[in-house]
Amino acid sequence: MTEGNPENNLEVLQNKLSPNEFKRKHLDTRSASFCGAKWYNATVWLGSGMTTSCHHPLPHKIDPIAVQSNPKLLHNTPEKKEQRRQMQCGERPSGCEYCWKIEDMGPTHISDRIYKSWIYTDQELTDAHTASSEKDFELRSLEIAFDRTCNFACSYCNPAFSSTWVKDLKTNGGYVNLVSDGRGHFTHEHDSNQLYGYNEYNPYVEAFFKWWESDLHKTLRQLRVTGGEPLMSADLWKLIEWFEKNGDKSQTSLAINSNLVAKPELIQRLIDVKKHLPSLGVYTSAEAVDNAAEYIRDGMVFEQWWENVQKLHEADIDTHCMMTINALCLETLPVLVHRIMKKRTEYGDRRFCVMSFNILRFPSFQSALVLPDNIKMHHVDRLKELRNSNLDFHEFELGQLDRLIEYLQVVDKPHSEGFDMPNLHNDFKQFYTQYDVRRNKNFATTFPELEEWYEQL
Ligand code: SF4
Repeated sequence: MTEGNPENNLEVLQNKLSPNEFKRKHLDTRSASFCGAKWYNATVWLGSGMTTSCHHPLPHKIDPIAVQSNPKLLHNTPEKKEQRRQMQCGERPSGCEYCWKIEDMGPTHISDRIYKSWIYTDQELTDAHTASSEKDFELRSLEIAFDRTCNFACSYCNPAFSSTWVKDLKTNGGYVNLVSDGRGHFTHEHDSNQLYGYNEYNPYVEAFFKWWESDLHKTLRQLRVTGGEPLMSADLWKLIEWFEKNGDKSQTSLAINSNLVAKPELIQRLIDVKKHLPSLGVYTSAEAVDNAAEYIRDGMVFEQWWENVQKLHEADIDTHCMMTINALCLETLPVLVHRIMKKRTEYGDRRFCVMSFNILRFPSFQSALVLPDNIKMHHVDRLKELRNSNLDFHEFELGQLDRLIEYLQVVDKPHSEGFDMPNLHNDFKQFYTQYDVRRNKNFATTFPELEEWYEQL
């Protein structure tokens, strides 16, 4: 982990504490469900006025009137305050199901609650545990999205987060005959996710810049800007201009989630502003290679992406690869991992393209768990081989690989609201049949290893 630099983090990184030892020493001593992220970490979508404490719980609404007088309510919502109260007394907030599911697999399984808490100091965790649940907390790590403008329309994304997805639905209408898409991710344009036009007054963006200028630039250790595609957002460049003028006033590390298939001048601008920032990291995404990557992440130009990752690394920008492990990536995932590790060796630098293996849960029908057992187990064997190879993985990369292997072996449905497998299989076939036509793609030729199974669905 690269976020922040507090002592807990160092304890783990220096191998003084394993993640489980950290859990026993710093979390279990407070309560059985305590998680620092509920107090100090937030994701806020400024286009829709929604927030959550990490990317797992479903987002909830922020009051657009209240934030005008108290911008800290962008994060300190009544919902989070109630969840903090539950965590202080050991109750499990239901929205944090992702972590409970991992932990219920057994005492050695490491959930994100541990990874997301170990970046805070012991004092910060004590403050969170003992404070009134009504108190407004200053953030240490924040992820924001200014708007949903994006040149990609990935299969596991939806119009809420991508203007290109909106265009697909405007042009072709909603996807039909999906039975597990209860929230209608693929059936309407999610206009509630972009409440304001690009030049209109947006109380949430206004509140963010107000809070940023008063306190956030002093208290935040890491600000991560996501999207849409942030490099296409004028507000990202406004923030970067603030750093250009006031960089010496803030120690906040800036991280940007980018698909890195942007115009060359935007990539260059990013490289050029690095010197004005305390630190800059770029988090990009891929979980497969070549045609498979371009199929899953519609808009991806794999070789351009790969070149840009290297270009940023060579400009001394920290690069990270966030993988979203889904049903279609497992065949070429090891190829991507080998490619990244080979480059690390060539650079002699383990910081190149640090990987996180995130397990896709939504949309459920794209989960790796929908694959038949023989295919799943074949990939489990390949992942074990990868994990046990002599590649120079970071410790937390190994932890996440172990978690993925266990997940594929032990968990039988994507989440507790999971639908029956026949429904998920129906949706898998229905979705990709329509996706192929809309996006001019071909499932069978892109994933020949799945063709036989796919055809009989
Ligand atoms: S989902 Fe897990 S990591 Fe996220 S806030 Fe809840 S307990 Fe913490």
